[in-house]
Amino acid sequence: MDITLENKLAEKYSFMRRESSKRQNPYSAYGNFGCMIKDGWYQILDELCAEIWAAYKEAGITSDLVVDEIGVSSAVDAQHVVELTAENVKYHELIFRYHMSDVKDSGADAMKEKMVLEATQAVRERIDALIEQYRVKSRTTCEECGGQGVLRQRGKEIEVWCVACYA
Ligand SMILES: [Zn+2]
Repeated sequence: MDITLENKLAEKYSFMRRESSKRQNPYSAYGNFGCMIKDGWYQILDELCAEIWAAYKEAGITSDLVVDEIGVSSAVDAQHVVELTAENVKYHELIFRYHMSDVKDSGADAMKEKMVLEATQAVRERIDALIEQYRVKSRTTCEECGGQGVLRQRGKEIEVWCVACYA
């Protein structure tokens, strides 16, 4: 994804700062390579981040969400594939992998710690549901422009394209 788009996300959402992902995990794909998706998915990624951000803030979680990878996942619907085609590739979809950094022990009493852990668990479930929702949405989102699309093939390239971008 274009670096200016990546920077826009990092300005809006602190968990999208690549430096902080890299600090938490030097091998982080996100920290090292950024968003490995095309610009057409910027809009849905921005919406997903906004919803994660809201869920996270609402829960009042103090530990950090660390982004591990943002990219494209695909699956091949055949056992012995000689050549990839739009028929045997099942989908292209947005993957968003993350983990929560450990809840820091701030000398809080056991009761408070338990409450924080429960809140963290609840927010994780909420975030996982959001990621799932956007994963499904990305399958029909044009990777070039963000419009409505389907998986298509052009030469060796297989991608989600809308009619206009495919033409
Ligand atoms: Zn398009």
